[in-house]
Amino acid sequence: MHYFPVKDSNKPRCGWNDDYDWDDDLDWSRNTTRSAYRRGNRNGVLCINHEFGRTSHVLGKATPDSLEDVRVMQHAHGISVVELKKRQGQWRQVKSDFARRIHVNTPVEFSGPVAGSDLLKTPNGNIPLGTVNNCANGYTPWGTYLTCEENFNGYFGATNQNNTWVATPEQERYGFSDGGFGYAWHNLDKRFDLSDPEYKNEENRFGWIVEIDPVDGTSKPVKRTALGRVKHEGIALTVSAGGRVVGYMGDDQRFDYIYKFVSEGNWRQMRREGKSPLDHGKLYVARFNDDGSGDWLELTIDNPDIAQRFSSQAEVLAYARIAADIVGATPMDRPEWTTVAPNGVVYCTLTNNSQCTEANAANPLAPNSDGHIIRWKDSKRHTGTRFKWDIYLIAESTHGTEDTFSDPDGLWADPDGRLFIQTDGGQKDGLNNQMLVSDLRTGDLRRLFTGVTSDEITGITTTPNRKTMFVNTQHPGNGDPTRTNFPAPFDGVTVPRDSTIVITKKDGGVIGS
Ligand code: CA
Ligand code: CA
Ligand code: CA
Repeated sequence: MHYFPVKDSNKPRCGWNDDYDWDDDLDWSRNTTRSAYRRGNRNGVLCINHEFGRTSHVLGKATPDSLEDVRVMQHAHGISVVELKKRQGQWRQVKSDFARRIHVNTPVEFSGPVAGSDLLKTPNGNIPLGTVNNCANGYTPWGTYLTCEENFNGYFGATNQNNTWVATPEQERYGFSDGGFGYAWHNLDKRFDLSDPEYKNEENRFGWIVEIDPVDGTSKPVKRTALGRVKHEGIALTVSAGGRVVGYMGDDQRFDYIYKFVSEGNWRQMRREGKSPLDHGKLYVARFNDDGSGDWLELTIDNPDIAQRFSSQAEVLAYARIAADIVGATPMDRPEWTTVAPNGVVYCTLTNNSQCTEANAANPLAPNSDGHIIRWKDSKRHTGTRFKWDIYLIAESTHGTEDTFSDPDGLWADPDGRLFIQTDGGQKDGLNNQMLVSDLRTGDLRRLFTGVTSDEITGITTTPNRKTMFVNTQHPGNGDPTRTNFPAPFDGVTVPRDSTIVITKKDGGVIGS
């Protein structure tokens, strides 16, 4: 989820203007007019991911019976773009040209090195459609939203009517199986049937980071293939030496990796030349050495070891996990969100790893039941291939204290050096999932709030003045109204619903201060 301020009532426009100094997030007001700044704090466009919907919650039954049922589920996934205004102290969704839903059947396009490759073509020539399992997100300095496709494998399955389907090594590495996660779409929508020869390669169209223009309701979402195909949790972008844009990304699976993308040139210059900074650049994967040093290993067809397995850069990017295996990246305890602190240190949540049997310095617990947060600082202002790392915290606290939590997931470092942490998993002491804040200077950790039964607290964004914060509760009660009816009594809702929560301080100050 991300909030893009609307700056000008006559000429609606969002995001950062071109002269915005990305290095100085603290002072958003400096590069815009006072009235536009004020307006942006009470009028904005919110892009929200709808990561997944439990079949029973969406349909009221265990499995879909018809293609219509499948369509209902598919349209409950994806992204919402809504415009919000604050009137008389209340935030309201307003009628807007920006508003739209992007779902599993929305036309999309591909860009970057894999676009045009046979890997993305199906024998029946169906056009690329949709995005699914949109987990976390990112946003660009040019004012667009990035949504990340995580557990896309689970929506595919195989009817295997000719009894000939077996997973390819590539499909296996990405976790495809005949049953998927039980959504059963493949039984009714051939596009998700891995054994249907007409839809060969359809699964390669998922697992990407997708760019969305929040203020052009007619623009197609673009899948940026230079960022690689993994189970993308999220992306944290920053601008580095020479104006190059750098993105840090986690691949959320046990024993999978952390990636970095560095654009080939200055992002403003590239855009002036009509190129997307996210289409041209280098993709790296992280190796955490036991001595506290680290290396970013480039995933390129120019590496002879990778060239033994793949024949093009398109293959390297489409099967980035396998290329990362070859170069010897460090398997991690489920990398989730990344965030770049104002001093350039990058933080990443490692949510847990129940199957870890052999600890290493970067993943020091076996098993890792509660998760930890790792951090690193890159050489050459984010563009170098060396880094230094350490562990910021291990989520193993004393029971009954305010810093008791486990399964860190959502993460955001604000410009003052506060680290907001959101959890997703069974919490200790019978707590629900929660949000905490840590002072990066002192390590002090405090709980901000806990959610409702069986929900996940996820998504974090603020207005430019940081006096309004938006967070989400996802799948409250796991959809079961006997466990919670949150957010009832609003709008007469009795079935629990995913909700966006607005947080302000009683004294009107910056959230977390
Ligand atoms: Ca995840
Ligand atoms: Ca997550
Ligand atoms: Ca998670």
